[in-house]
Amino acid sequence: MRRQLVALTFVSIPLAAAMTAAHGADLKFRTTPEAVQTSKPAATPRSVELDALDKTADPCQDFYQYACGGWIAKNPVPADRRAIGRFQEVQERNFLLLRRILETTPADSAEADRKKAADYYAACMDDSAIEAKGLAPLGHDLATIDALVNPDDLPILVAYLHTIGAPAFFRFNAQTDLRDATQEIAVVDQGGLSLPDRDYYLKTDARSIDIRTKFAAHVERTFLLAGQSPEHASHASQSVMSIETKLAEAALDRVKRRDPAQTQHPMTLRELQAISPAFDWKRYAEAAEAPKFQALNVSVPEYVGALSRLIASAPVDDLKDYLRWHLLNVSAQMLPKKIADADFDFFSRTLAGQQEPEPRWRRCVTQTDQRLGEALGKAFVDAAFSAQAKADTLKMVQDIKSAMRQDIDAAPWMSGETKKAAMVKLEAVVDRIGYPEKWRDYSAVRVTRDDALGNMQRAIAANRQRSLAKIGQPVDRSEWSMTPPTVNAYYSPDRNNINFPAGILQPPFYRAGRDAAVNYGAAGAVIGHELTHGFDDQGRKFDGEGNLRDWWTPADGKAYDDRATCVADQYSAYTVAGDTHVNGRLTLGENTADNGGLRLALMAYLAGPGARNNDKVDGFTPEQRVFLGWGQVWCENARPEAERLKAATNPHSSNKYRVNGPLSNMPEFRKAFSCKADAPMVRPTACRVW
Ligand SMILES: [Zn+2]
Repeated sequence: MRRQLVALTFVSIPLAAAMTAAHGADLKFRTTPEAVQTSKPAATPRSVELDALDKTADPCQDFYQYACGGWIAKNPVPADRRAIGRFQEVQERNFLLLRRILETTPADSAEADRKKAADYYAACMDDSAIEAKGLAPLGHDLATIDALVNPDDLPILVAYLHTIGAPAFFRFNAQTDLRDATQEIAVVDQGGLSLPDRDYYLKTDARSIDIRTKFAAHVERTFLLAGQSPEHASHASQSVMSIETKLAEAALDRVKRRDPAQTQHPMTLRELQAISPAFDWKRYAEAAEAPKFQALNVSVPEYVGALSRLIASAPVDDLKDYLRWHLLNVSAQMLPKKIADADFDFFSRTLAGQQEPEPRWRRCVTQTDQRLGEALGKAFVDAAFSAQAKADTLKMVQDIKSAMRQDIDAAPWMSGETKKAAMVKLEAVVDRIGYPEKWRDYSAVRVTRDDALGNMQRAIAANRQRSLAKIGQPVDRSEWSMTPPTVNAYYSPDRNNINFPAGILQPPFYRAGRDAAVNYGAAGAVIGHELTHGFDDQGRKFDGEGNLRDWWTPADGKAYDDRATCVADQYSAYTVAGDTHVNGRLTLGENTADNGGLRLALMAYLAGPGARNNDKVDGFTPEQRVFLGWGQVWCENARPEAERLKAATNPHSSNKYRVNGPLSNMPEFRKAFSCKADAPMVRPTACRVW
């Protein structure tokens, strides 16, 4: 919520947070980086990865199978994963490096940030200390909830729980004012759910009912493990389910939330109070130690109205059970094994199909990266990111921006007036590569080697204070929303910048000296993807300064929507796990970015010096290698549960369709592989936005 961003994948974004946007409090839905017990290629591929191909497949039938079939056959999903793919391969390398950095930092290191990260990791790894303490580290917090008697004090309690990361009832934070993107304002948004999406509470099919039953049992079990009586545990579970269902009913769905206008409702604090009288917002904001403010954005006014009615009508004891649950839930991974295991069993096994927990070191690297990411990221960049990689990426960014200029200029459906405005926005896109210029200051975070839960709470609290302090201040555009080791990339519409962490500028995305066709098809298309986000159905509603402002003529806006509808309908016809449709409207922005990004990468490559040599490499033409470069970054095996979870919550399509969707729209692909007009990889009515 702190900031809107459009990422390349959800590999490293907490899925729970995807309810709105990065909240940073909930680790459990994170698709954690995955171990790779994969066979290492014998030699460094100079071009396409021949081992990954399935040469028995017909590229015109199913290009994904052709590009990835060999890899897919060799890499079944390990027991401790929900999915295994190329992103996870890179992440595993990055994580092994981070682990080495953390485990070799001397306890008396003079490098303050690195020592802090290493201490955080060491405390997280000390499972015997965590076991020995039992629930004692939560004692004070649970007692604080117990002590609530007067409902009027609820805002103070909720503010405290938000400070330590429990996402109770709603979200409150700073966000860019989309009417004036140079300023930060306060925002209240929906939140407070435990399941990954509102639909999980509301759908009536057998699978959804089964998940709800298991969720209720999990809540009950957690209360039992926390020492409550069976009667209390059973009642608490019903209270949690009842409260969260009411919140889910009032929440705006993911597709509607993609339209930024739907979550823009500026009002005064007094107006907020009038539509949600049962919760004292001023008291809450003061207890949260937010800077004083008079006006804010209330993302979903209907939600705060429903929240107010809920608070007014539910017994205080039920509200307290709901708050206890969120406290236990957010803390579970730093609590004794029986609670952490129960947490895994529901949130990872039931919801995502993962069979075993990841090794502890990987969970603790994930934690450290999430809580103290830039403290750890500095050492990562020193070890893993070369000046050559930065220079090469910058060159690709410039080439791809040139391709976008040509693409806009040539668009037959846009008027000159809108093209001119689009060019202004394009020229204003800021590109950032590798790592922040200015590193985050963690001096306010106290970390000790014997207090895993306390460390987590203090890191969350410091990050929250840092974030709330922005309310009423100018936007700091130097900040990053991803840490340097992250295998991902993003576009921020309210800052109009594209961002490529050092973590993704690694093979198979980019390799110095590799065949340029493959580097453009992989890293180049990733760059094109992020750039296209500035002009997808969401991004196009923002101007070059990051303001929510319509710069399209009505006719061009209509032409755009018609083209986007073609893409939405195309992807809605795809299914995953045999029974679940991709939501073409939820994934529209990402699919538009995939389609546009790959085209821009191809254009940029063909305009460059690499393409002047038309020789084949390993039997493939330059165009074929660009397409294979793209295809091979998406090779993946995923559990059906994980595919269904992704389809319900993730704005990205399943990897297979991230490959076959764009290619089947491209006459350039058809030509490159000499596909017949009626081949499955040739859509009779090709969709094209960019
Ligand atoms: Zn994206």
